[in-house]
Amino acid sequence: MTTPPFAPPTHAEIAVVSAQLGRQARGVVGIAARCVCGNPTVVATSPRLDDGSPFPTFYYLTHPAATAAMSTLEATQVMPELAALLADDEDVAAAYRTAHEAYLHDRAQFGEVPEIDGISAGGMPTRVKCLHALAGHALAAGPGVNPIGDAALERSSWSPERCQCEDPGAATR
Ligand SMILES: [Zn+2]
Repeated sequence: MTTPPFAPPTHAEIAVVSAQLGRQARGVVGIAARCVCGNPTVVATSPRLDDGSPFPTFYYLTHPAATAAMSTLEATQVMPELAALLADDEDVAAAYRTAHEAYLHDRAQFGEVPEIDGISAGGMPTRVKCLHALAGHALAAGPGVNPIGDAALERSSWSPERCQCEDPGAATR
């Protein structure tokens, strides 16, 4: 496994992420995935924030259209459907455990934090609890790493290949 392939964020990128979140982005160590237009869709966040608090969700979905799409999916029957997939398919379950390990490995590049040792995000390695976190990981890692995140994105109305940014020019200013 390799170090996550992203550079430290620029001030302009932090500004775009803060606008997406509607608050100042905290602890961002890189842009882990982008829209086809170049705007951030997922940020990587330090496992320990500047105020000292532990932050397990290394890959955090920031894009407003993406987060809305995942909230819509969570409100449907998709959660129990994906949980059943995990329970019934040993290959999926094994891949999900591997995704959990990959997530922890990626995060550990930015520091070991005892409070969240072995804790990843989204319900990994055995449950499906947050599609935002799982889709964020799937977008950052690329297809074939997080099977539940991939499945959530496949069922989603949102895709990074079709720009739904409210202000696509924001990334370049
Ligand atoms: Zn876009």
